[in-house]
Amino acid sequence: MSRPSRPVHPAQDARVFLFHCDAYDVPRIRALVGGAMALLGLRPHGRTLVKPNLVAAGDLFQHAYTRPEIVEGVLGALRDREVTGDPMTELAVGERCAITIPTRYTFAEAGYEAVFDRTGAKKICFEEVPQVEVPLTHVRLRDYIFTPEPVAKADFFVNCPKFKAHPWTTVTFSMKNYIGIQDDRHRLIDHDHALNRKVADLQYVIQPQLIVIDCIVAGEGRMLTPIPRKMDLLIIGNNQVAVDAVGCMMIGLDPLSVEHIRLAHERGFGPVALEKIRLEGDVSLDEAKARALGFQVGLVKVDKYFEGTNIKAYSGKAPKDATEDYCWGGCPGVMEEVIEVLRLYDEKCDAKMPKIHLVFGKYDGPVELGYGEKVIFVGDCVEWEGTIGSELVQIRNKYVDRKDLDPYKAEHKDVYARMLKMTKKLRELKTRPWTRLEGCPVSVGELILVLAELGGIQNPYFDKRQIVGFNRSYLAWRGSSAWKRVLGKPYQIHGATTRGEARPEIEPAE
Ligand code: SF4
Repeated sequence: MSRPSRPVHPAQDARVFLFHCDAYDVPRIRALVGGAMALLGLRPHGRTLVKPNLVAAGDLFQHAYTRPEIVEGVLGALRDREVTGDPMTELAVGERCAITIPTRYTFAEAGYEAVFDRTGAKKICFEEVPQVEVPLTHVRLRDYIFTPEPVAKADFFVNCPKFKAHPWTTVTFSMKNYIGIQDDRHRLIDHDHALNRKVADLQYVIQPQLIVIDCIVAGEGRMLTPIPRKMDLLIIGNNQVAVDAVGCMMIGLDPLSVEHIRLAHERGFGPVALEKIRLEGDVSLDEAKARALGFQVGLVKVDKYFEGTNIKAYSGKAPKDATEDYCWGGCPGVMEEVIEVLRLYDEKCDAKMPKIHLVFGKYDGPVELGYGEKVIFVGDCVEWEGTIGSELVQIRNKYVDRKDLDPYKAEHKDVYARMLKMTKKLRELKTRPWTRLEGCPVSVGELILVLAELGGIQNPYFDKRQIVGFNRSYLAWRGSSAWKRVLGKPYQIHGATTRGEARPEIEPAE
């Protein structure tokens, strides 16, 4: 049977459906998705992969992730639309959740295990499978990027994000969900002021035939701990630039003001103008806009963000190769998410936090400390010179030029090693009023450890609700990776590297 090949630039006939859906009701979602697939003429086939957004899940992150009912409805619709002459050879759900958190843990916390049991879909934790190289040839950040093999080999790809604001990229709809198609090592590369450009580059890895966005309860203001916003919508489409553009219009944003949407549009991935998008479904754009009235995206610079709290932030200049003078995709935004996580764990977080000064980027101004106050210089690109107490302090820039960051040499950073490193930093702060945290970006986990300790706040990593599950999953993941290395399994697609060199050994699944 003939079928359309996997789209690379599916800009033609971009269609977006806005459906009213006021409950996480699996049969209703299944019917809506199946109906839209019929209208789009879509039949799943071959290796079919569904990618939700499971950045974090569980009681404290209830509105951060694609609800399991959405994915179960999508899996049902895929089965309904399968044809015997050209069946699916695999039906899987794959994800890489937030850095350092084992995806197997997040799948369980998000309630996906029961979905796997009921549907027979395969669970894929992207950090536990082989990573393969995808060469890039357009205007790009680098010549090749890595992605998990199941993504590279998917014949039918379904993107199932959550409709949320994002403090680093303005929104996280369909395209931004691609940050989860890399394992931690490769995800951290270019996860800085170039984050929007990275998301645009990831579009070359694969384009989905189908997009289903969980907008029944959307997330406002933040991405890890968003404020729930009931929108009662299911957004379905066949082109993610168009879908994201409609999402922007719903919340009163110009799609071209979001850099990754603009770049993908300019590179031919899809339209952003309404006259080039077929809008369908039973909810009009005006009605969707009314439901989203006043939706907050949370794009706030870090110094402003912490105004009125015990934390004073100083945002210096981003590195010279940045397109803006502020690192939207890196450490400042990480810090904003960190404090929101700590607020969830302890409602007295702000009152407990001692006076702390946080310095980002190349900062030339004064840092005036009161008695007992601390300064944390954050990130590789931080640069400052001045006196703290009676000490002359010179913080040197350690930012590594982008061309010297080689994805082949990227290494996994162990969470327990990070904890030890942060313990050392905290010890340092007992003997002097300042410390420097390295990394580009510094991870959410590291900043949580430091701020939780300084504020005397429950450390989320040691929360009794998750300590056993988290550690069990983490050790299982690391143990499985170590075992695969011992077995010496082949982890690369064969062929020459994009640099024309012999393909080097690369550590397999993380
Ligand atoms: S060190 Fe942090 S602030 Fe500096 S460029 Fe990297 S991610 Fe951005």
